[in-house]
Amino acid sequence: MKYAELANAGVFDQPVYEPGKPIDLVAREHGLDPDSILKLASNENPFGPSPKAIEAVKKIALSLHLYPDGACTALRDRLAVRHGVDADWIVPGNGSNEIIELLGHVFLRPGVEVVMGSQAFIVYRLVAKLFGADVVDVPMKDYAHDLVGMAAAVTAKTRLVFLASPNNPTGPANDPAEIAQFARNLPEHVILVLDEAYAEYLEENVDVAGLVNEGCRIIGLRTFSKVFGLGGLRVGYGYGDPELISLLQRVRQPFNVNLVGQVAALAALDDDAFVERCLRANAAGRKQLVEGVQALGYEVVGGDANFVLIRVGEGFALFREMQAQGVIIRPLAAYGMPEFVRVTIGRPDENVRFLELLEKIRGVASARTEAGALR
Ligand SMILES: *Cc1c(COP(=O)(O)O)cnc(C)c1O
Repeated sequence: MKYAELANAGVFDQPVYEPGKPIDLVAREHGLDPDSILKLASNENPFGPSPKAIEAVKKIALSLHLYPDGACTALRDRLAVRHGVDADWIVPGNGSNEIIELLGHVFLRPGVEVVMGSQAFIVYRLVAKLFGADVVDVPMKDYAHDLVGMAAAVTAKTRLVFLASPNNPTGPANDPAEIAQFARNLPEHVILVLDEAYAEYLEENVDVAGLVNEGCRIIGLRTFSKVFGLGGLRVGYGYGDPELISLLQRVRQPFNVNLVGQVAALAALDDDAFVERCLRANAAGRKQLVEGVQALGYEVVGGDANFVLIRVGEGFALFREMQAQGVIIRPLAAYGMPEFVRVTIGRPDENVRFLELLEKIRGVASARTEAGALR
């Protein structure tokens, strides 16, 4: 008997999540110097971690033999202040991705439906299928979520609606007022999961706490992986109605957020100067990439987060060619967008390197086309 015959059905429905390849691996595969590689594949902060977080991590190194505070007390207290709520509104996660899985543990099973955009963050789909729930896909509109279409897709079987704003990998955010109205109109048996991984990049956020107080069923998901620059530590959280949060608390592991992650996240929250600097640089970098890509004749969606979406024709071919030359970007075939690549906004010099490589490869590709070798 094979192990597979003993396994749960959801295991085999799992779409493959392809993370951006680690730098060392790409270096080895292509015989490149790791220091020469530019990774623009995972929307990481090109300015590194918050300096205050680095200091906190250095200090905590001497205490690594100790288990972390399983309740994440200090971090939750600080986050409660950030959102103007009590600490029992906050559930900590091993990245916000873990909160998505906790929602699955609590609410998903066969026969239940999950509504999401067809190019929504792929982890929603992964988790829905893992728990045997049915995914109800709603086509996107202008690269953002079609809230009218999503509302229409809700049935008596729907339990969760996933909405990332800005959405990854497409980029644009939905209007906060429209999201709020969408939340108010959902029936009582449906929970809106608002994924705010890129909230800091927006000028205006949805008032999640306000909506909860109005009686809406909504949970916000936040992460330290993006503007705070702590992707390697895996810290995120969900915030919402204490009753909902207590259910999620029940299904998490006792020490799901590690010691280093807790202190680093706490320190990063007090590093406004770093966040401000990163946000300003990101806005300038977006302009630099959008204008540079347009000048090369490609269609580009600048979006509202820390990455851009580019229609290059054959996304995987470009990804492969760039990777061989030490620049890692993200192909999007897994999202049903084979013509596109997603490129994280880097530092100014990194953006220049990407644009120069794009121009060079385009030159080679068009020369090949002229010679009739390509297509
Ligand atoms: C990056 C990202 C996250 C963050 O995930 P973590 O597990 O916190 O690293 C969540 N949602 C979306 C849409 C993202 O792009």
